[in-house]
Amino acid sequence: MLSSLLSFYSILGIMITRFYEGPLTGANKELQNRIVTCKACPRLVKYREQKALFEKKPRFANVEHWGAPVPSHGDPQARLLIVGLAPGADGANRTGRLFTGDSSSNFLIKSLYSAGLTNKDSSEHISDGLALHDVFISSAIHCLPPNDKPTPTELSSCKHFLSSEIQLLARLKAILVFGHIAFRQVQNVVTDLTNEPSRHKFIHGGQYQLPSLKTTLFASYHPSPRNTNTGKLDQTSLDTIFNKIMGHIRSFD
Ligand code: SF4
Repeated sequence: MLSSLLSFYSILGIMITRFYEGPLTGANKELQNRIVTCKACPRLVKYREQKALFEKKPRFANVEHWGAPVPSHGDPQARLLIVGLAPGADGANRTGRLFTGDSSSNFLIKSLYSAGLTNKDSSEHISDGLALHDVFISSAIHCLPPNDKPTPTELSSCKHFLSSEIQLLARLKAILVFGHIAFRQVQNVVTDLTNEPSRHKFIHGGQYQLPSLKTTLFASYHPSPRNTNTGKLDQTSLDTIFNKIMGHIRSFD
């Protein structure tokens, strides 16, 4: 049954079409709708839909999965932008909101809550009432990649969305990036925006000036189970990075 469904799917191609229905307005809303309706990367279109339609975890078997590019979310007046890697298979690709519905999400949201940037300390589903204050969450790419490894072409195809978001965040003072791939993506975006090569080396806890954007870049290991279950990243370490970021942001008050 599954193999015939997959054959049917491979003939039919794209099966999931969604539109942005979140709270952002104006240019932010238009941008997020362009993200959600994007089909620029054939490998990722197929993979995100395959996971959402045919390869659900047993505990989510009866739950409708998002299966489309996942939009960014948060405060359009934010001074902090967080850039993750990509939607998670059981998290954002299921729930339709970045950093929602898996262990990475709750790890991050706990630290955001401690830093006073959210109204609650967990992120479970799109209607859970989570509100972000002074922070906006995006990702290096907006579709779930196999093995968490987007290709250089896919990263390049998605880069302009992050570039547009940075341009729309008029009060931006800090960018926090999770992991090497997102760190490189942000630096490529900075180079595109400023025409100045940005080639900093990723260091967990690192802080780098981006004078042309009047912004500071902060780096952290990604709060994925691979890092949090092995102790490479713990809650105290992430809280410490947020304390540093909040000190930086408040210096502009
Ligand atoms: S990764 Fe980005 S560019 Fe590629 S299909 Fe998804 S939204 Fe479009």
